[in-house]
Amino acid sequence: MKFKKNDMVTVEIKDMGHDGEGIGKAEGYTLFIKDAVIGDLVEAKVMKAGKNYGYARLMQVLKPSKDRVEPKCSCARACGGCQLQALSYEKQLEFKEKKVRGNLERIGGFSDLEIEKVIGMEHPWRYRNKAQYPVGKDKDGKIITGFYAGRTHSIIPNQDCLLGAEINETILEKVIAYMEENHVTPYDETTGRGLVRHVLIRCGYQTGEIMVCLIVNGRKLPAAEKLTDSLREIPGMTSISLNVNTKRNNVILGEEVINLWGQAFITDAIGEVKYQISPLSFYQVNPIQTEKLYETALEFAGLTGKETVWDLYCGIGTISLFLAKKAKQVYGVEIVPPAIADARKNAALNGIENAEFYVGKAEEVLPEKYEQEGISADVIVVDPPRKGCDEAVLQTMLKMKPERIVYVSCDSATLARDLKRLCEEMYEVKRVAVCDMFPQGVHVETVALLTRNAR
Ligand code: SAH
Repeated sequence: MKFKKNDMVTVEIKDMGHDGEGIGKAEGYTLFIKDAVIGDLVEAKVMKAGKNYGYARLMQVLKPSKDRVEPKCSCARACGGCQLQALSYEKQLEFKEKKVRGNLERIGGFSDLEIEKVIGMEHPWRYRNKAQYPVGKDKDGKIITGFYAGRTHSIIPNQDCLLGAEINETILEKVIAYMEENHVTPYDETTGRGLVRHVLIRCGYQTGEIMVCLIVNGRKLPAAEKLTDSLREIPGMTSISLNVNTKRNNVILGEEVINLWGQAFITDAIGEVKYQISPLSFYQVNPIQTEKLYETALEFAGLTGKETVWDLYCGIGTISLFLAKKAKQVYGVEIVPPAIADARKNAALNGIENAEFYVGKAEEVLPEKYEQEGISADVIVVDPPRKGCDEAVLQTMLKMKPERIVYVSCDSATLARDLKRLCEEMYEVKRVAVCDMFPQGVHVETVALLTRNAR
């Protein structure tokens, strides 16, 4: 161990880690430094020193990287939300491409794969259609909303996250004004007392419809019509509701929603497919990039109208419905029952009759249907959570032998693992695209097309 806690070091940042942290060496000893970007020369304070590497805190940028930019958001460092704001957008995309390529090579053993496109955003700001602001008090007792300082639960006031819609600020001001005027208390995590916990806002990107839902530690809001009267003045306001959460835990939403004004949902569309979104629905947060991602998946699926398609891990059926118009039949599988209820509702809303949905684990439903009913598939699309596909899913796909598998992934490490498994037998990776769903953050989505070998 070369250094100890609180030592000051000078480090040139040569690389960036998976979480966007800068990586460099001081006297041959590797240090991870959050908020430092590749190419920076920085002064940093050692916070934790292990045998082979350590963590240091950025104190001063001595010589900025040519790719360093001034973060647009004044809270960029304190907030845990964006990890890459200090890096130019062009370099962010490069970082993401490199991350995917690295995992495909290292974990998957694919050394000569071409990543054919990196789909970035023209305006990589204000893309989020959903915001959840915690409500609390500052030390003077004033009601505030903002975000939790990285890894803590103390609220840093900020009503205008630059990833979210501009209207959020007005909505939050109105909610706070209502709370102050009507003596409505914010929830206090330490005592479990107080009423308003979070404000959830969703905006339909294509429709302009707005939903506001107050998450409350109770079932009633005093003088609720004062709040709804004020919020209704905002053009596009469509749905105002309460979500009941009286539990003393960190989960944001409770199960019950009480409508206060307007509809219980807003409508939005991705491409031509409409979706009804309630406070509890899962819905992709970046609608612009989601459309590009699904367009890519659709292109990779190569549908002509004759295919039977399975969409595993289908959520509210977004991909299924996107593909249904070009396929003969689509089957979606998803573990969360309300998501499947949404999927069926959305199919009906769009007049789609060739999509059927099953509730259950993909690793149980697919083998069962295959073994008992002998179902087949021309194309299988998977979009699993970060841990990737279960072995039983991979095995069943290998038995079903679809002509094409389209793998949509939010974690390129597990993607690489699963592709390796599929390619050991009869598949070959044909195309890979990377889509930036979360500009300023480190996450990245990948879409891969696998085709069946002739042998
Ligand atoms: N394709 C959807 C959602 C993908 S997110 C969309 O684009 O909107 C991954 C989904 O997999 C989540 O909805 C999650 O609930 C679901 N899931 C997680 N484990 C699962 C399992 N074992 N079987 C089926 N679905 C699962």
